[in-house]
Amino acid sequence: MTRAELLTLEKRHLWHPFTPMREWCDALHEPLMLVKGRGCSLWDSEGREYLDGNSSIWTNAHGHAHPAINAAIADQLQRVAHTSFLGFTHPPAIELAKALVDLFPSGRLSRVFYSDNGSTAIESAVRMALQYWQRNGRPERDTLFSFDGGYHGDTLGAASLGGLPVYKGSGNDFGYKVICVPSMEALHALPEVAIARLAGVIIEPLVQGAAGIRTWPAGMLKQLETWCGERDVFLILDEVMTGFGRTGRMFACEHEDVIPDFLCLAKGLSGGYLPLAVTLTTERVFEGFLGEGQTFYYGHSFTGNQLGCAAALASLKIFKDEAVIEHLAEKVKTLTQLLGILRDHPHVKDIRQCGLVAGIELCRSREPLVDYDPAERMGAKVCLAARAHGLLTRPVVDTLVLMPPLCVTDAQMERMVEALRLAIADVIG
Ligand SMILES: *Cc1c(COP(=O)(O)O)cnc(C)c1O
Repeated sequence: MTRAELLTLEKRHLWHPFTPMREWCDALHEPLMLVKGRGCSLWDSEGREYLDGNSSIWTNAHGHAHPAINAAIADQLQRVAHTSFLGFTHPPAIELAKALVDLFPSGRLSRVFYSDNGSTAIESAVRMALQYWQRNGRPERDTLFSFDGGYHGDTLGAASLGGLPVYKGSGNDFGYKVICVPSMEALHALPEVAIARLAGVIIEPLVQGAAGIRTWPAGMLKQLETWCGERDVFLILDEVMTGFGRTGRMFACEHEDVIPDFLCLAKGLSGGYLPLAVTLTTERVFEGFLGEGQTFYYGHSFTGNQLGCAAALASLKIFKDEAVIEHLAEKVKTLTQLLGILRDHPHVKDIRQCGLVAGIELCRSREPLVDYDPAERMGAKVCLAARAHGLLTRPVVDTLVLMPPLCVTDAQMERMVEALRLAIADVIG
């Protein structure tokens, strides 16, 4: 099919996530069709090259078409692509589970439950937490605490936990109780009657992604772990975005020496190549489901997909072989320096960074501080303008997100920041 034919069919038949489809389908809009990737670069159907400034929506770890991951997937494909994990097992899933468990030397996270995306990894943890207390003599523990601004996925179960109204759709809680709190201080202020019903607390450790790259105060995660421990309630960490090197360590929880009761991983797990997720938990939780005739009634058709597991094993091997984590500190420092050129920009309100995750928040004016009206979609306009300067990324409202693949070079980061600077100038002046 020609490009023109494809684009005609695209507008006739496709429906995109989080996309205003009226504008998308407008005759004048030319969707960007990406056809090739190598390392941090992506190419469109016209042969134009772009830097992948948000790791293809926060998923890619080692760059596109990494030879080791490609080879691992191709090799697995020669054996079998997918078999059911309901009543069967297979070597890649077992080897990956062992490799993941070994990333936590304390040995506390010893059980691995597979699913296929971030939302289902969260949903698994929530169901396990709630059912654990139901089955183990504390049925009154039917509530989860989450944090304002939190984002834990888009299925109804995961969206119920979210502290961002825009993702809730109907705005209801779905099937279980959620109390959303703004901070650790608010948690301390909760009455005992509320805490008595608490099954677990969920948080994006260190940095909230979809809230606009919002960092938590240092030490907060450790305090939360202590708070949960003292009350014997589960700590659920959503490391779907922060996992696999983004924050400068393999996992965000390592920064504060925290081991949760549940750890949810997805996006970067397969290197960002295939949909795969895991919920890690403890032997204690696992044993809570070992009663006579008990089963954890939950799972998906593509649970533990063999290709995905093979890609994830290859990705973990790259972390070792290329000493990826060891090289991150330098890159993080370079990114901080590069973002310095935007720090005093009259239309930059704030720059937030956690490892290789950065948010650049725009404003109409700094003094006095005036935000843009979200209806102006200024962040989206700047990101669109950045394309002309060879950068692909997506904002959160007026926060421009920069989250390059971990293999990014200094020169590429420089081009990314420069593209943003030029794009701001193009749009705002
Ligand atoms: C992306 C994301 C999710 C949801 O993952 P999906 O694979 O899109 O379902 C959950 N939590 C966080 C922190 C995320 O960034």
